[in-house]
Amino acid sequence: MAEPGRTLRVCALYPDLMNIYADRGNLLLLERRCAWRGIGFEVTAASLGDEVDPSAHDLFYLGGGQDRDQKLCAVDLVERKREALHAAAADGRAILAVCGGYQLLGHSYQLGAEEIPGIGLVDLRTVREDGPRLIGNVAIEVELPGLDGRRVLAGFENHGGRTYLGDGEVPLGRVLRGHGNTGASGFEGVRRGTVVGTYLHGPLLPKNAWFADWLIATALRLDAPLSPLPDDALEDAAHASARRAAGV
Ligand code: GLN
Repeated sequence: MAEPGRTLRVCALYPDLMNIYADRGNLLLLERRCAWRGIGFEVTAASLGDEVDPSAHDLFYLGGGQDRDQKLCAVDLVERKREALHAAAADGRAILAVCGGYQLLGHSYQLGAEEIPGIGLVDLRTVREDGPRLIGNVAIEVELPGLDGRRVLAGFENHGGRTYLGDGEVPLGRVLRGHGNTGASGFEGVRRGTVVGTYLHGPLLPKNAWFADWLIATALRLDAPLSPLPDDALEDAAHASARRAAGV
């Protein structure tokens, strides 16, 4: 049984369209790690045409997608969900956006003459430039509030867009291996308070259970990090394997 008031309420944005590379695995992992701790878990899907109540969820999740799926979602996101997501972020609610979702957090994703709009929640722009897609295993070093020291996030990236952060924005981490935001900046992702954007798929959370725990604690506004689970052998092995794949 979940303790009263301890339920992680997740809003999955466009789970039918923005779900490349097993984004659903990220939600499953959150669900399992909550269940193992007696924390309730609810997931609500919000897709094309659906309104979002910013106060009804603790965590908003937006996965990755092909350019064509992103285009479908972008207009709806801007027209129907932009205000709610701005309100949620302003209220300290957690937002995790991966790859195509990360790109849509910014002002725009420019593909030649075409511009896909974003919700402008974070000051960043993405451009599809000449050059290869940025593909491969990736590892980044991150520092997060409430956690001591630096940690490694390991995953997989595959994006054509290059993402440029505005001057005031702070990247999620420093690239140890892989390409990151532009392939040249040495930085990956963005974090503004409880809003996180990253190119790391993998899926991200099963490969980095410690980060899933940080996300749960952040979304639930807990005063202290979650205590470790008694048996994380599989999760530790997944993390070690992702790091090995990236060569870190
Ligand atoms: N369509 C975007 C790009 O190629 C994002 C891809 C993804 O989510 N993997 O840059």
